[in-house]
Formats: sequence, structure tokens, C-alpha cells
Amino acid sequence: MTVHNTPEESLIVVKNLCKSFDDRSDGVLNNISINIKKGDLVSLIGPSGCGKSTFLRCLNCLELLDSGYIRIGDVELSRGDISRRPDAKMLEASHKMRAEVGMVFQGYNNLFPHKTVMQNVTLAPRVVKKMPEAEARETSMRILKKVGLENVADKYPSTLSGGESQRAAIARALAMNPKVMLYDEPTSALDPELVGEVLQVMKDLDSEGMTQIIVTHEMQFARDASDYIVFIDKGEIVEYDDGDILFTKPKNNRTKEFLRHFKGTGTAVNY
Ligand code: ADP
Ligand code: MG
Repeated sequence: MTVHNTPEESLIVVKNLCKSFDDRSDGVLNNISINIKKGDLVSLIGPSGCGKSTFLRCLNCLELLDSGYIRIGDVELSRGDISRRPDAKMLEASHKMRAEVGMVFQGYNNLFPHKTVMQNVTLAPRVVKKMPEAEARETSMRILKKVGLENVADKYPSTLSGGESQRAAIARALAMNPKVMLYDEPTSALDPELVGEVLQVMKDLDSEGMTQIIVTHEMQFARDASDYIVFIDKGEIVEYDDGDILFTKPKNNRTKEFLRHFKGTGTAVNY
């Protein structure tokens, strides 16, 4: 399978996305273009520093693109070039876009430590959406059940395992009813035996039709669960394809070189 989604059939459209940072002359992201359909589960792989996190942060508008175009659902954000200062329209679009996207980061600092799991999950719906408390609790409990955490709703994050923390972080993001979920190495700080329970939540969400983009080093998961895998190197999409094809018949030499690192390394392959 080669992935050629048209913009019309895609939930996420990215065209010629460029991003650089002040202290470097070369771009961190160079003309990234990709269309992702609703319900797809897409894994992003690539060497450290290639721009994976920056790409997710641009989709979530934690970073404002220098130039290019992003559409998520009906929300469009475009910038002709970096010299165009962000205007009110662009900032409004970036706020709207952020509301369409849920994001989960690596590690243990996704949750507020002084709030229970339930309070973590209900906080944004109550504050941002002004949802009444009873309704927020009901919705949150439904989501906590979905990620298998109904029994720890009243616990504090410090008492959770790493896998439970990450599932709680996913629940908190889901509580805002996002169209897209982004994960930046969500399992890389976990003990190996806890990785599977977090990946299972993503598989469950996939079967419910959630659109998800995952930056991961879990190559076996990427291969098994993704609709396709995108290989990024030096801020460019080098190649993307069905996992089985990418792993067995990569076309580009950079992809081949990168995947060689993962051959025979238990940690990256097992989940
Ligand atoms: P990856 O997630 O693939 O490891 P990143 O997107 O985090 O890569 O980073 C890509 C490049 O951009 C790296 O060289 C990194 O040092 C640089 N970079 C990322 N964020 C910033 C920032 N806020 N300021 C300056 N440079 C940054
Ligand atoms: Mg990163």
C-alpha cells in the first residue's frame, strides 16, 4: 500500500510545512506535506533530532509554523512566509486548532500531582467548557472505564504505575473530545512490562475510529497497529508506507540505514 490520500478525503492536511528556530539557519521541518484520513493510526519514526516532536507541536499549535498550511477538520491555518507576523486571524485559528487536538507526552509529568485522577480528567471540561460538575464526572468516569482506570479515579498520580499515569493522561486528553490524538513517545519512560497496556489503549481507540499520530520507538507496535508508518529524517518525510512493506522493502537508503538499528534489538521490537 502506498499512501496517497487526497486532501478532500483527509481529516488532517499538511502542505509545505516549514519550521526553523532562531539559533539555526537550516530548517527543523522542511516542506512537510501529508494527508491523514479520519480513523487512521499513523506512526512517525526517525532518528533523534529529526523533527518528530516539532511536527506534533506544530499540529497542536504549541509552535506556530513559519510557513505552509495545516487543516484539521474545518480549522485552517496558513502562513505565507515567516516574515508575515502572526495576525489575529492566525492566532484565533491556532487556538481553535489546539482545541481539536489532544496530546500526550513522554514521561510522568502529564498530570497535575496535587489533583486526583478524576480531578485531572474533569478539570479542562469544567474550566474550558464550563461543564457542570456532575456531567463532567459522569463523562470522565466513562472515559476512565475505557482506559481501564475506573478503580483509581480517586487516587493521586504519585500512587499510580507509569502505565496507569500514561493511560490517565490519555483519558485527560480524551475528556476534551478531540478529533485527533497526538502522542510523543508515550511509552518511552515506561518499564517494558507496562508498555503494552498503554499501546492497547491506542489500539482500542483505533477500533473506535479515533485518528491518532504516534511518535514511537516501539517498532513492533508501529508495524502491527499502524495504518502506515512515516519515516522522517532531517526534517523531511523520506518515505511512508504500510508497516510490512516499510520494514521488509524500504525504498530509500536513509530508511534502510535507520531500520538496521532496530534489527535484533529486543527493547524496540517487543511490546
Ligand atoms: P525529535 O523529536 O525528532 O527528536 P525535535 O523536533 O525535538 O526532534 O527537534 C528537532 C531539532 O530542532 C533539534 O535539532 C532540536 O534541537 C531543535 N529544536 C527543537 N525545539 C527547539 C526550540 N524550542 N528551540 C531551538 N531548537 C529547537
Ligand atoms: Mg522528540
